[in-house]
Amino acid sequence: MPGPGDVLDLIRERRALTRGDVLEMTGLSRMTVYGRIDTLLEAGLIVETGADRVTGGRPSRHLAFNSAHAAVIAATVDTTHTTVAITDLAGRITAEERIEVAVADGPHATLTAIISSSQRLLEKEGIAIERVAGIGISVPGPVDPETGRPSQPPIMPGWDAYPIVDHLADALGVPVLVANDADAAALGEQQAAHPDSRALCFIKVSSGIGTGIVLGGQVYRGTDGGAGDIGHVKLTGHDELCQCGARGCLAAVASGGAVAQALTALGKDAVSGSDVGAYLAAGDPDAARLTQDAGRVIGEVVATVVSLLNPSDVVLGGRLASAPLLAGVRETLYPRSLPRATRHLTISLSTLGERAAIVGLTALVVEREYSAAAVNAAVAR
Ligand SMILES: [Zn+2]
Repeated sequence: MPGPGDVLDLIRERRALTRGDVLEMTGLSRMTVYGRIDTLLEAGLIVETGADRVTGGRPSRHLAFNSAHAAVIAATVDTTHTTVAITDLAGRITAEERIEVAVADGPHATLTAIISSSQRLLEKEGIAIERVAGIGISVPGPVDPETGRPSQPPIMPGWDAYPIVDHLADALGVPVLVANDADAAALGEQQAAHPDSRALCFIKVSSGIGTGIVLGGQVYRGTDGGAGDIGHVKLTGHDELCQCGARGCLAAVASGGAVAQALTALGKDAVSGSDVGAYLAAGDPDAARLTQDAGRVIGEVVATVVSLLNPSDVVLGGRLASAPLLAGVRETLYPRSLPRATRHLTISLSTLGERAAIVGLTALVVEREYSAAAVNAAVAR
């Protein structure tokens, strides 16, 4: 029989807006439905948002998930820095700070800095750790979906199989969720900007290249968490050395790191995707031309992705997300895909930028900690 957690699912996903909707959708008796909803109201998991719709002369109150029930900590680890944020359960950021540790500093230094930043932000906001539903952390590499450990990440020295969950759980005492950064950003973009999309691909082009795939509102991770790791697809006719040790990878030819190298050869100072992003923002013509070239190469690989998944949205994010990148991707993607695969396809730039992964991490934590099973078990206790 559907428990309070199942009723919460309907309300949280906005499939049921009133008690009447819940009655209709669950087939439970009126008494049971009212009892379930009272339980959720008493636990502070849902709120009533005033009367509006009138059914049979009686006002019918709207029910909504209480996004203030708890807070979430979200941390995004990148190749140049890390961002830590406190959000409500709807992904609204209430406090945020950028810390100067990056993935190359290794897991111990990075996680230690994230822990102190989290504690600092919670104290500043006056939020007790007991009011935190969980911490979500994203990293720029594949993550084993079962263990939350990085799985042979090409650009994360020292992180392979590192027990991130244990490290953070021991220090903070809250549930920990680890995600790939492109996966988290893909979900954030889907929820915030493309809520009706049934298939969305997020292509992150920063120092490296990664893809997140959201199918039917769920992140698709693949068997080993490696789905979407297109940065190390080998291109024919290329032998540029990649950070992963192989030659001719897409990331070695068309990532922010590769564009930075090409800029350096022209006498400009650039090392990372962030540096390229700064040149692009300043309107540098060389950066724009090289980024458009990179977009053309990426478009060739993404054409295969589009033919495989037939998505409605391809969203370009990361430090190189810009008009030249978008133009380059369009130039090669359309001619290399069948018209049917692109008929309803929109290729756009990320709307949330760096915050996409934070919104996505919050959604992943909420999805797990407020699942029907988790809530039914908590209510039973
Ligand atoms: Zn590679």
